[in-house]
This record gives sequence, structure tokens and C-alpha cells, in this order.
Amino acid sequence: MFNIKNDVNEIFADVKALRRQIHMNPEIAFQEFKTSALAEKVLKDAGIEVITYPDSTAVLGILKGGKPGKTIALRADMDALPLQEEVEWEAKSTVDGVMHACGHDMHTAILMGVATILGKHREKVPGTIKFLFQPAEESPPGGAKPMIESGVLRDPDVELVFGLHVSTRDEVGHVKVNYGYSSANSDRCNIYIKGKGGHGAYPQGTVDAVVVASHVVVALQTIVSRNVAPLENAVISVGSFHSGTVNNIISEYAELKLTCRSLAPEVRELLEDRIISVTNGICDAMGATATVDYTYGYSSTPNDDKAADIVKAAALAVVGEENMTLNTTPSMGGEDFSFFAMEVPGAFFNIGAKPAEGEAYPGHNPKFFVNEEALKTGMEMMLKIVFTANE
Ligand SMILES: [Zn+2]
Ligand SMILES: [Zn+2]
Repeated sequence: MFNIKNDVNEIFADVKALRRQIHMNPEIAFQEFKTSALAEKVLKDAGIEVITYPDSTAVLGILKGGKPGKTIALRADMDALPLQEEVEWEAKSTVDGVMHACGHDMHTAILMGVATILGKHREKVPGTIKFLFQPAEESPPGGAKPMIESGVLRDPDVELVFGLHVSTRDEVGHVKVNYGYSSANSDRCNIYIKGKGGHGAYPQGTVDAVVVASHVVVALQTIVSRNVAPLENAVISVGSFHSGTVNNIISEYAELKLTCRSLAPEVRELLEDRIISVTNGICDAMGATATVDYTYGYSSTPNDDKAADIVKAAALAVVGEENMTLNTTPSMGGEDFSFFAMEVPGAFFNIGAKPAEGEAYPGHNPKFFVNEEALKTGMEMMLKIVFTANE
């Protein structure tokens, strides 16, 4: 073992510079060419074996430690968002309309720092560490699944996988980990309703798609309130309702766009089934027809109990009990770390990155700004996890 805090402090300025370089040169999903090249360089500089892929920006680093131990994967997502940065500061995005507004620049820099430190202390590292630099978290079907299909979790087989996300809601030095789910099933549903158009003055003989779709919207509200068990979690939001053109034409078509979130797989299936039956039932009763396209996005992330125990033990050592929250409300957002966590036992956790001053903006906001001190928490946590998992 070596002194994690000392190594992290020593490398902090470099990691901050890497983070700023990535922040100033953000790349959207599947286009992470510079970021991926940088990850490759940092890994090689650390003496770590690197595997890249012809059709992907994914980078896999493999470090075989000098001591016996488990094979552990650490994951960072690399993509930015199609958003114009509105924060004026010295490392503002130099790419118009693209910004690291979710903190993936932080995740990538943290993993680069961890790789550098572990590379330096290779002889003291237990087992094998796999560094997963993942493309396209923000764009379903996402970059995690293709990486798994490329075999990143095999040969040697990964026994545990860990990932983290910065949170501007929490103070720097705060760590949150959940037993159970840490993110939601994140699905989309599009409903097309076909009625029968006509003159607004003569509704008889028509099937007004506006009226039918309105009934569908109201009836959808009963799924979460009446079909989902009270202690389960789900939300259905109709984010878009489009129908009709002018005052005196009864609309023939209506289109609804929904987002559907849940945690348990059974609840996800229930939402899908009920949306289809409720929509078809109402349309049938009113003489319209419907097509319902329910598309599964990312699945919820199941944190494994033993992996969560490891994160908890690491957090106790790194930030202390007073700066750790267990079992907070899971995020109803989606996160494709879930693909890794469904494949091998893993845990996803949050680290606080609230700015030292000024208002804290949430992820995906053009004013999103993080406290770079969180790089330290991230590195210390990941490093501690590697050793704790082998105790
Ligand atoms: Zn995001
Ligand atoms: Zn994110």
C-alpha cells in the first residue's frame, strides 16, 4: 500500500490541467476522438497496456498489478453535450454548441489520474485493473453495450465494476452510495392516434383526435397512481402533444411523446403493458386507432450489495461517516453504467462537486460548473476501492 492522499495531492495540478483540456475541447457522443486519444496517451505514459477499437472511440487500459488479487474495472464516460456553455471562465468550451455539462470531463480526468498513480505503484497493486474509457453515455443506446460486446469484461474476467458521477447538489468531500438501485429504467414511448378529420362545425361523423388524445393523457395519469404499487417507483410524463392545424378543422391525427421511468424491471413491464392497453382501450371506445411505440432506453443500475459495501468502506476511510450518505433516493435519470452492472457485480456512486461560491446548477444546464477539488475525492475513492475490494 502507498499513501493515497499524498499521491493524489502530488498529481492534482496535472489532473486539473487534463480536466480543463478536456473541458475546453468537448466532444459529443461517439465523436470523442481527441478525448480518447488523450486517454490512450495517459495510459501509455503510465506504462499501462492499451486496447483500442477500429469502429469506436472506446479505450481499454489493462494494468496487471504485482500482487495477487481480483480483476476490477473502473469506468469513466467521456462524452459532452450539444449545449452552448454560458459560464465565462478561463477553461470555457472552445467548441460552439458543445459543452461538458454533465461532468464527464471530471470522470475522465479522475480515471486518468487513478491510472497514472496505479501505474507508478504497479508492484503494490493487487490483481488486475481494467480502465474503461467509455464513449457516448448521453446518447442511447450508448457506448457501454458495444464495449461489453467487444469483450472488455472478459479475459481476464472482471469480478467487480465501479463508476462514479459528480453531483453539484452536494458539497465537495461528500459521497453517496445506494444499496439497491442507483439509476432508473429510462424509456421513451410515442403514441400515434388516428381519428377521422372533418369540418369543425360538423363534428358528427368525425373522430376528433384532439379529444381522443386528451382522454388518453388523462387516463395515463392513473397508471402510476392506480396500477403501480404505492411503495414502488415510477413516473410517466407526457412531454409533447401535437395535433391539428387551424380553428375549423377537426384533427385527424394526434401524437404524444412520453418519458417513462421506473426502477424495478417488473414495474417497467407494467408501465409498458398498461400504456398499450389504456391507449388502445380509449381509442377503441372512441372510434380511433392507435400505434404505441414503447422503446427501452437504459435499464436501471442495480448496485450489488458487496460492491456497495466496498464503496461504503472506501468512503468511510476517505471522507468519513459524517460526509457519507447511504441509500439516498435513487436518481430517476438514466445511466448506461447499468449495462456493466447487469453483467458483473458493481456499484455506482456520487461525489459532491458543488462550486465553492455562486449558485449550483444541475447537470445538462448551460451554467453547469463544478468544483475541481472533487477530482481529489474521485481519485481517492477509486484508489481506495481497488485496495478495499482486495482486503
Ligand atoms: Zn448527462
Ligand atoms: Zn452524466
